[in-house]
Amino acid sequence: MSKVGRRAFLQQTAASLAALSLSPGEFFGQKPQWTTLPTNLLIVFPDQMRAQAQQFMGEDPVLTPTLDRFAGESLVFTQAVSNYPLCSPYRGSLMTGRYPFGHGVTGNCNDQGTRYGLELRTGERCWSDVLKESGYSLGYIGKWHLDSPRKPYVKCSNNTEKEAWNEWTPPGRRHGFDFWYAYGTYDQHMKPMYWDAKADRDGAHWVDQWGPEHEAELAIRYIKNEGGTYRDPGKPFALVVSMNPPHMPYDQLPQRYLDMYRDRTIETMGHRPNIPPAGTRWGDYYRKNIKGYLAMTTGVDEQFGRILHALRELGLEKDTIVLFTSDHGNCLGIHEEISKNNSYAESLRVPFLLRWPGRIKPRRDDLLISTPDICPTLLDLMGFGAAIPKSVEGTSHARLILTGRGGRPSAQLYLEIPYGRSAQGHRGVRTSRYTLTIAREAGKPEQTTLFDDLKDPYQMKNIAPDNPFFVKELIEEDLVPWLKKTRDPWLG
Ligand code: CA
Repeated sequence: MSKVGRRAFLQQTAASLAALSLSPGEFFGQKPQWTTLPTNLLIVFPDQMRAQAQQFMGEDPVLTPTLDRFAGESLVFTQAVSNYPLCSPYRGSLMTGRYPFGHGVTGNCNDQGTRYGLELRTGERCWSDVLKESGYSLGYIGKWHLDSPRKPYVKCSNNTEKEAWNEWTPPGRRHGFDFWYAYGTYDQHMKPMYWDAKADRDGAHWVDQWGPEHEAELAIRYIKNEGGTYRDPGKPFALVVSMNPPHMPYDQLPQRYLDMYRDRTIETMGHRPNIPPAGTRWGDYYRKNIKGYLAMTTGVDEQFGRILHALRELGLEKDTIVLFTSDHGNCLGIHEEISKNNSYAESLRVPFLLRWPGRIKPRRDDLLISTPDICPTLLDLMGFGAAIPKSVEGTSHARLILTGRGGRPSAQLYLEIPYGRSAQGHRGVRTSRYTLTIAREAGKPEQTTLFDDLKDPYQMKNIAPDNPFFVKELIEEDLVPWLKKTRDPWLG
């Protein structure tokens, strides 16, 4: 890690792409009259799918034939992370290109978060707002999770008197998405619920079908524009498909996916050395749920394949940028962590595959890409570099993606922010070799953890106590610049 490399990200500015054949100035802000439609965008992101659960990565014993094939056609960012690996903070960053203290969603949207006003602000400028104003049709299918639940809570199983998660998104808070088939948070995978674009708060409907399968079918109808009712055929489209599995509960999935793992034993599936042993609470939790988790991932992979097939059938592959990623990973008991919201690799690392045939050369790249980079990068790739909102804190990697040349961040920021205690919780950085995490709780000494991910990929040994000078260097040269850049109250 050179000092020059560490400083590079601070000096980096969003690259404007003169090389693109589409000039945003030609149609941005105007009533567009296209002879050739600009690029479509398709984002598919399941919830809680760790990077390790892609077969081609050679880590988890999972079956993902679609992703394996798709990886061969895509630029695969092998070291992508979810900087705040939790639903709502990630989703806020995905939509706005900002870090959590910028977009304000510093915790999950649920009844606790409501007390602190945690939800995506109506006035935030999202990539979808830019595309809407530029003449795109926009569709959102699946989990949104960016609204505070309000009393009286919507009647459903994720909302009880004591705890509430799910909320309807009023039309004025949909940030440009005109086709809407979504929900806040709802975890009944075999009987999911949705509000469509016209439904009012009481107008949700339930479906007797596995969520990802149903959402893939909706996505296919949207792409095919069945009956001409899904989108304006004279406009390019941007579609998001936000699937809930492989989120828990891990036993709600079609049997056919579980059958694919019939011959696997629990012990061959739990091969990672950081899985706690059988007979322990978290070791048993892992063994109980890993088959369902991987089988759901296989189901998501199959449904993603159906959506890709529709693009191919319609001859839209070359005209559509496709991004497959996830909002965070899943420990599933590893390191005694139930799922996400921690800095272990299984929680932090997410799939990140980007395909644009003829424009993006298929390859693998270990770029330390961060969640807020997605918004400016996509806008830039699509020709809207000049329209990247001023509020964006992420970096456009479009030039690097298209040409192989561009700035490379030296570290990724990690955050965990407790409700109402914004200067506490966890902060850290992940470099190409190390993961540093600092835990702060009022009245207690700070705890620092450092893993050498090269020598110790399963993060079994904390080397912070033996390396105080290196810890200090990482804090000063990587963590503090990030905290300053994102105006983090952690610095006091
Ligand atoms: Ca999530």
